Amino acid sequence: NRMPEGVAREAVIDVGAIEHNVRHLARLTASEVIAVVKADGYGHGAARSGRAALAGGAARLAVADIPEALQLRDAGIDAPVLAWLHAPGANFADAAAARIELGVSSLEQLRAAARAGSADRPVTVQLKVETGLGRNGIAPADYGRVFAEAAEFEQEGVIRVLGIFSHLSNTSPDDDRTALSRFTVAQAAAESAGLRPRLRHIAASHAAIGLPEARLGCVRLGVAIYGLSPFDDRSSADLGLRPAMTLRAAVAAVRRVPAGQGVSYGYVHRTERESTLALLSIGYADGVPRAASGAGPVAINGHTFPVAGRIAMDQFVVDVGDEPVTVGDEAVLFGDPTAGVPAATDWADAAGTINYEIVTRIGPRVPRREV
Ligand code: PLP
Repeated sequence: NRMPEGVAREAVIDVGAIEHNVRHLARLTASEVIAVVKADGYGHGAARSGRAALAGGAARLAVADIPEALQLRDAGIDAPVLAWLHAPGANFADAAAARIELGVSSLEQLRAAARAGSADRPVTVQLKVETGLGRNGIAPADYGRVFAEAAEFEQEGVIRVLGIFSHLSNTSPDDDRTALSRFTVAQAAAESAGLRPRLRHIAASHAAIGLPEARLGCVRLGVAIYGLSPFDDRSSADLGLRPAMTLRAAVAAVRRVPAGQGVSYGYVHRTERESTLALLSIGYADGVPRAASGAGPVAINGHTFPVAGRIAMDQFVVDVGDEPVTVGDEAVLFGDPTAGVPAATDWADAAGTINYEIVTRIGPRVPRREV
């Protein structure tokens, strides 16, 4: 395969794959899907991922913070959007004006949300409760006080409590079940304060797929909607998911070299015999992890080669032996392995990280091309 003329590198985003994954996961979990498009849609583009997820049947979108939520509005997305991680002093008034749903993790945030609302325009709130992850969320000791005040604000009409949610550690099924039972306690406390949140959600991709009792009729899915597996021991294909991102680069130069040629900084790789080196114009500034030097797999013309030597800022080399590789050939770093190319997970393994980090770190110098 050839790269388009003039394109050094690009991430091809298959929006149909995101749509398929959401539809598949909604059916599998028999639950309403909240599609998580934070961090620029895990590197795939927030607005395009959001639109694709909505087309696949997602009921709402979620992001970490308010600026991300406002970007979705600026992109013309009108669907419900939830934001749950707020900067100190975050602008809840702007969020309210844009009809962003606010995740509320403390009494202070609840009061700030109430101040941003009015009886004409109540702020929609989802209460985030701590069930053992050790991050944000209303602490069990505060459930009574915060829920009582939320019920008063709801009576006044300045807020509307749409949901109650939490997040799991995915440490083990037993740890997740412990968190689930804590979540049941939180729900009971909310009900006895007079709250009737319609949505309850605790499962992200891992538990939504792997722990059916965590589904609760609503799931918050990130990595799986992009077609990536949250499990070490199950591939995308095992889960019926289609990876949405293909990262590819052009072969920018080809050189025949003798045995013993040192390759890239530090000469950590030397050719064992006469061989062909192919230079790819993508590097760690583009999010290719330098930690995968010597290991990350690249598919060129149906053959897979490891990175030779160190990955540099803008480029790296693969040793293609005697394969007839030419300038302008397509080199696929990762994509859909059912098409015979490496998976993002292979790069994660080579770099000692997780597939989430591989896709979210693809840099701004890599154009995204939607197909
Ligand atoms: N919910 C919360 C609170 C999160 O922080 C995240 C992402 O880290 C998700 C849901 C989505 O998780 P995943 O990508 O594992 O589905």
